[in-house]
Amino acid sequence: MSTKQKLFSLYIHWPFCSTKCNYCDFVAFEQHADFQDAYHHALLKEIEHFVATNPLYTPDITTIFMGGGTPSLYPLDYMAQLFETLKKHFNFSGIKEFSMEANPADINEERLDAWESFGINRLSMGVQVLDDNVLLKLNRRQRTADVTNALKIIPKYFNNFSMDFILGLPGVSDQTWDASIDCALASQAKHISIYFLMVHEKTPLYFQVQKGKVKLHDDADLIAQYEKTIAKLTANGFEQYEISNFARPGYASIHNQAYWERLPYQGFGIGACSFDGSRRFMNEKNLTTYLTNVFNKNFENLSTCENLTPEQEKLEMLMLGLRQNKGVGLHRMVYYLDTEKKQRVFEAIEHLKSQGLLIQNGDQIRLTLQGMALENEIILKLI
Ligand code: SF4
Repeated sequence: MSTKQKLFSLYIHWPFCSTKCNYCDFVAFEQHADFQDAYHHALLKEIEHFVATNPLYTPDITTIFMGGGTPSLYPLDYMAQLFETLKKHFNFSGIKEFSMEANPADINEERLDAWESFGINRLSMGVQVLDDNVLLKLNRRQRTADVTNALKIIPKYFNNFSMDFILGLPGVSDQTWDASIDCALASQAKHISIYFLMVHEKTPLYFQVQKGKVKLHDDADLIAQYEKTIAKLTANGFEQYEISNFARPGYASIHNQAYWERLPYQGFGIGACSFDGSRRFMNEKNLTTYLTNVFNKNFENLSTCENLTPEQEKLEMLMLGLRQNKGVGLHRMVYYLDTEKKQRVFEAIEHLKSQGLLIQNGDQIRLTLQGMALENEIILKLI
C-alpha cells in the first residue's frame, strides 16, 4: 500500500512591486529590479530542493496560486522557466484552479496570452476602488483607465476572474464605492472579494493616521456599507461563501477553500507559508537572508516551523470555520475543552446569539452579517 501523501496546493510568492502601497504590510518590495534575477533562480532552487527532499509526496496537485507582491510583473521568460521546473515535478493535468494576482496596470494582450498559455486559468485583479485621487494618495500604481482597459481584454483569455476591493480606504465616498461595485457587477467577473482595510503598524498609512493627517471611516459606517454591498452582490447573483468572498455559482475559489479546510500546501519564495496537515512553516522574510540561505544551500534555516498544539489546532478550525458561510460544528469545537471552559463557550454563544451576531442550527454555528463584520472580536469572546 502506498504511503505517499498528497499536496493539495502550491503557492509561489513574487515579492516585487513597482510602488509600495501605503497600507501594505505584505512581503513586498518597491522596485528592487537588481534582485529579480537572483530571486527567480532562488525560487527554482527552492522548488528543486523541496522535491528532492520530500519523496513522500505524490506529484498530484489541485491548485496553484501565484501571489505577491505583484506576480503580474514576473518577467514572462522567467515565468516560463518557473512553470517548466514545476511541470517536471508536479502533475499539471489534474489542476482545477491555477490563479494569479494581477495589477490592472500590468494587463495587456501579450501578457494575457502568455499567462493563458502557461496554464493559468483564473486572474485575481486588485482593483481596491475606482478613485484615482484616493489611489494616488495611497501610492497605489493603477488608475481607473487601467481597470476599464483590463475589463475589455481579460474575457478574451480568461473566463474566470476576480475583482478585489478594499472597503474603508480613506477619502472614498459612498457614491464612489457604489460605482466601483456597480462596475464589477456590470463586468464579466465571476468572483468579487471585499476586504476591510487593515491599518498595520509601521506602514506609512499607520503613521499618517497617528499624526492625524489621514482620517479613517467610522466602524459603524463601514459595517453599514459592508451590509449594503453584500445585499447588492447577492441580489445580482453572487453567493457569499466567506466573510470577504463572493462568487457566481460554481466559481468559489478552490484554492481559498483549501486554506480554510486546512488541506496541505507548499509555499515557495520569501515569506511563503506551508502546511503539512499538522505543522505550519514560514519562510524567511528578509530578502538578502532568503537569497543567501538558498544559494548557500542552507535550507534548514530557510523557514521556521510551528508544531500546532491540539488547542491551537481547534482555535484555527474555529477561526477558519467561522469565516465561512457554512460555519463550524459546535461539537468539533468544544469536545476537547474541560467542563468549565465548555460552559464558558456555551454562555458566550448564547450571548452572541441574543445580540444577533451568531446563528445556531443544530450543531452548526455561523456568523450573521453583523457578526462577520465583527469577526475578530467574536472569536476573542469564544476562546
Ligand atoms: S501592490 Fe500589493 S503587494 Fe505590492 S505594495 Fe501594493 S498592496 Fe503591497
